[in-house]
Amino acid sequence: MRDDEVSAALLAWYDGHARVLPWRTAPADRAAGVQPDPYRVWLSEVMLQQTTVAAVRGYFLRFTGRWPDVAALAAAADPEVMAEWAGLGYYARARNLLACARAVVARHDGRFPQTLAELRALPGIGPYTAAAVAAIAFDLPATVVDGNVERVMARLHGVEVPLPAAKPVLVALAETHTPAARPGDHAQAVMDLGATVCTPRKPACGICPLWQPCAARAAGTAADLPRKRAKPAKPVRQGVVWAAFRPDGAVLLEDRPARGLLGGMLGLPGDGWDGAGGPAPVAATWHAAGEVRHTFTHFHLILAVQIARTSAAPLRGRFVRAVPADLPTLMRKAHDLAAAAIASH
Ligand code: SF4
Repeated sequence: MRDDEVSAALLAWYDGHARVLPWRTAPADRAAGVQPDPYRVWLSEVMLQQTTVAAVRGYFLRFTGRWPDVAALAAAADPEVMAEWAGLGYYARARNLLACARAVVARHDGRFPQTLAELRALPGIGPYTAAAVAAIAFDLPATVVDGNVERVMARLHGVEVPLPAAKPVLVALAETHTPAARPGDHAQAVMDLGATVCTPRKPACGICPLWQPCAARAAGTAADLPRKRAKPAKPVRQGVVWAAFRPDGAVLLEDRPARGLLGGMLGLPGDGWDGAGGPAPVAATWHAAGEVRHTFTHFHLILAVQIARTSAAPLRGRFVRAVPADLPTLMRKAHDLAAAAIASH
């Protein structure tokens, strides 16, 4: 199958199987001349970064109900937008969203620019979002490559190079399939195929429009591609936290050093968690209560929780009657384990 035949097969499939999405202009409407709204395309693409379609749907409808165009969003008060964004994560994206809306109004009179270069110059718009808006909203032959597209390309062409090294190869392959006609529908077709048919674990090759030319299907490697470089195992660090309880129920807490792990946050006193050990924060007879585990970005941490009852003055930290609700998760886990253990001790 030639590149243009692959694209034709994808477009024919898309015409019959496109997902119905609140930000999408259906292929039949597109064919009838309906123009997608760049604001809705852009908003959905920003929301969809690292979030699922199912999660975004409600947010998208609320945002567009409240701020139906880019000028309305640009005029919104920051806290209101942040509040609507809550739950989507990555607040930097919400701040960039507002900055971008305001730049579109200030620089482009409230109309999204129609070139990749001008789109890229807007705040928070990277290569992916620029290509998506250019292709989907303006039907420009920009190649849109997200995780779905990478997967489809890796399988279709049997690319064995693991990610992330394979990225440039997969982008180049996706470019070879981008057609001059209907590039926006083509981009959405590849994404839809990856999301609904060529899925990560169980690709449904039997109903796939690319069954015939697909190299991975022929080789029986579909579910194994794209290959990913094995992540190095995270190191495991160990340490101790001490939970000292006074007879009145107060527990000893301390402010952690401003720099380093959980910097500046309140928690149970620890030994540094760097393997060097350290003295207990108050004189007491200590008992092991168990351990808590937590995974940070670069390592796993296992903390042995020591408990004691004591009336002695602490060497560091302070006794607190009401433990704050916003203890870091690790400290909350350690505290809850210690509190349960001391109650039955
Ligand atoms: Fe994916 Fe299978 Fe289609 Fe190949 S034939 S693109 S592996 S679903």
